[in-house]
Amino acid sequence: MDYQSILEDIAHAVQPEFGKGRVADYIPALARVSPAKFGMAIETLHGESFLWGDAEEPFSIQSISKVFTLTMAFALEREGLWQRVGLEPSGNPFNSLVQLEYEKGIPRNPFINAGALVVADVLLNHYPGPNTAVLEFVRKLAGAPEIRFDLEVMRSEQETGYRNAALAYFMKSLGNIHNPVEKVLGLYFHQCALAMSCRQLARAFLFFANHGALPATGERILALSQSKRLNAIMLTCGFYDEAGEFAFRVGLPGKSGVGGGIVAIIPNELAIAVWSPELNEHGNSRAGILALELFTTMTGMSIF
Ligand code: GLU
Repeated sequence: MDYQSILEDIAHAVQPEFGKGRVADYIPALARVSPAKFGMAIETLHGESFLWGDAEEPFSIQSISKVFTLTMAFALEREGLWQRVGLEPSGNPFNSLVQLEYEKGIPRNPFINAGALVVADVLLNHYPGPNTAVLEFVRKLAGAPEIRFDLEVMRSEQETGYRNAALAYFMKSLGNIHNPVEKVLGLYFHQCALAMSCRQLARAFLFFANHGALPATGERILALSQSKRLNAIMLTCGFYDEAGEFAFRVGLPGKSGVGGGIVAIIPNELAIAVWSPELNEHGNSRAGILALELFTTMTGMSIF
């Protein structure tokens, strides 16, 4: 398969999308990112890389980080984790308070903000230095010791993340947050502020295409069945309240973030990451979704 020329064709085909969306301006530091950025990266299990555009420029991965923290928490807590966070698509915006009240403080799934806050709380129980633990874990997955937190983005969210604070305090009142809320939010704002490139993201997700083991070293990150389960959660919950449409149009497990990044995997083959900061009304990258739709159309590859 000539992935390089497929990336080139995709880059041309997504051009009409630019100028139609909005960058995530509810986080002040993200509002300043150029909407014209566009990168794509493919990493295959055979060790090949295919890059396009701004594929090596780090950007704010935001909610994509929820996959990394969930992986860590699932490896530690195993099935017990699902007593504190559910497994169903939300059908509601990622930061909804209403749904959490209905469901008595048990978030619908680990990829809405409330769910990710519970996962952060779990990690606080296991690590004295959770920020460093998350950073080291992601660096290992990506094979990239240069990955860092963008502290400007982190502070920007800390100063304006009232809704996340509300979610965390609400769950605390219902007993589903065990650590001090400030600590939970501190970890959450750090993980969202991880800055990674498309290439690093594709590398870091490749173990999901490899049944839970790092392709480079064979080190097992998740058991086979755990890896299958996280792929299932990505498929059903990875795109806010647009997960159904993403499965319909693209047909791959993946995760998006409001920084405009999307990563998806094709089991036994590859991981692909796209970055384009202009978002649609659901908070997903407009050009990113189209790029991945074109990728599965052009290659004829999907999980279905
Ligand atoms: N840090 C963002 C927030 O909490 C994450 C949102 C996202 O990427 O979905 O609002």
